[in-house]
Amino acid sequence: MILTNDKFQPRRTGSWIYNPATGERLAEILEHDPETVPLMVQQARKAQTEWETVPYRIKRRFAYEASRWIHQHADTLALAIAQCTGKTRTEALATEVLPAAIAFRYYSQRIPHIVHPKRLPSSSFLFLNKKSIQYRVPYGVIGIITPWNYPFGIPVHEVAASLLAGNGVLLKVATQCQPVGELIQRMILEAGFPSELFHVVYLSGSKVGAAFLDGGIDKLFFTGSTETGRILMEEAGKRLIPVSLELGGNDAMIVLSDAPLERAAAGAVWAGVSNCGQSCGGVERIYVERPVYKDFLALLRQEVRQIRQGPDGFDVDIGSLTTEEQRKKVIAQVQDALSKGARILETSPSPLKPSIERSVGTGITLEPASTESAYPEPLFYPVQIIEVDNDTGPLMQEETFGPILAVSVVDTEEEAIRRANATSYGLTASIWSLSKERVARVASRLQAGVITVNDHLMSHGMPETPWGGFKQSGIGRTHGDPLIEEVTQVKVVVWERLPRMKRNIFWQPIDSTVYDGLKGALALAVGKGISKRLQGFGNLLHLLVKRIRFF
Ligand code: NAP
Repeated sequence: MILTNDKFQPRRTGSWIYNPATGERLAEILEHDPETVPLMVQQARKAQTEWETVPYRIKRRFAYEASRWIHQHADTLALAIAQCTGKTRTEALATEVLPAAIAFRYYSQRIPHIVHPKRLPSSSFLFLNKKSIQYRVPYGVIGIITPWNYPFGIPVHEVAASLLAGNGVLLKVATQCQPVGELIQRMILEAGFPSELFHVVYLSGSKVGAAFLDGGIDKLFFTGSTETGRILMEEAGKRLIPVSLELGGNDAMIVLSDAPLERAAAGAVWAGVSNCGQSCGGVERIYVERPVYKDFLALLRQEVRQIRQGPDGFDVDIGSLTTEEQRKKVIAQVQDALSKGARILETSPSPLKPSIERSVGTGITLEPASTESAYPEPLFYPVQIIEVDNDTGPLMQEETFGPILAVSVVDTEEEAIRRANATSYGLTASIWSLSKERVARVASRLQAGVITVNDHLMSHGMPETPWGGFKQSGIGRTHGDPLIEEVTQVKVVVWERLPRMKRNIFWQPIDSTVYDGLKGALALAVGKGISKRLQGFGNLLHLLVKRIRFF
């Protein structure tokens, strides 16, 4: 039986998920009946109305249990992530498991500070009879759709913040990563969250949008491609359901002439080819100032020559691509660039053979491995440094979800900024330099939601730093205080301080004293010169005396 929290058992489809790095058969694809989605929403909503009243100190206990669960099941999680995506377990641990455990604790501590009722300062003496208090309250039931590239690290932030802020959640993980979805379901249940509050939904991408949006969710979080984000936003717009979109990226890395070059070359490789280059916030385009271009390239080439690519193992640096579709896209982008004059400067060595110590026996509930393969060969694509002279063509203009480092020389800081910004995306960018002045100057002009200095990509692992992009990289932010704001909505309660006053001075019946009194209030509030204000005060006073009645 599939571990779900209730009666909503998915069916087995007869289609399979395969490990893209080995071709091994992993698990049978599951599917819920789309008709059950509204029932899941109903159930989650019922549980949510109670859950939102649970004090934060109690909710925090569940969050702590969840992070302990992650710790206890770290090997299982890392293995499942590695098997579904083709990345290595070490990558899975570093970029998904560890940050997720930290995220649960962070949100449980941070949420009370953000949702804490706030007394709003009065904007004018005219409203001194009012007391306004702003609350942030949960939306109700939040639908979350996430991609395959970080199948645990991405959803956990949104799930943790949504639940701990008092929402119910329906989560759909990418079909390729359903076994990770099962583990997320297990984590939530075993951490003790109310079982009806959270549902992993097994539905294909083509069915889940309508199922969520017509099923009654109150808000949608989507992480994935810009194309799908656009479709979902349009559909959500028709139903006026708010959306938060985390979409593609085409990140620039700027290496200035005073950069720490060794670190920059190693960092370009880490952020450009980790997860086999399939990171929304990975390095895609590298602009290097001419005085250090040659030295940087020499270091970068050395790094790439040493990369060990292969199926998961502790002595492997990077794994495979995750989908055949991505491999085809990468090949097409590279071929297009080469046909227009780009040059491959370096290619990493051929993939390693599988090593015996790959299996760690963690007891994961995956199907027994089968040698039957879905692919003619595992989905490896080597790391390549490609030198380009201009920013035209898909390699430089579109997202490249593969281990390609496109490098280009620039003559000035100005040129680097201009070329970095010359894309329709704006997720993240990085500046590599030891000069605080230069970094501040460049950072202020880069059009991206996240700028890292002498590092790249890693802030996705820090729950406190907002994550999200400018332009076509998305709408809204995940992580940090903005995520807490995204999973809650504002409610303000405006109190009358003089409730025994029979009516406000401008309520009916209206006469000319009301008009004059209101003009007087206007003059008193913003009029220029003492005489105008005094005259305004007189008119207002006249209205007050005439209108204020308590008995
Ligand atoms: P995708 O095709 O858009 O799929 C993402 C998720 O949406 C999957 O769960 C998929 O389900 C589902 N889906 C597909 N079509 C759908 C539709 N019409 N309606 C509703 N859901 C649908 O993207 P991807 O290729 O898997 O993921 C890679 C993309 O995600 C890249 O562009 C990457 O930059 C972006 N990304 C962005 C961030 C960020 O934080 N900004 C983070 C990670 C990834 P199925 O698996 O069943 O198809």
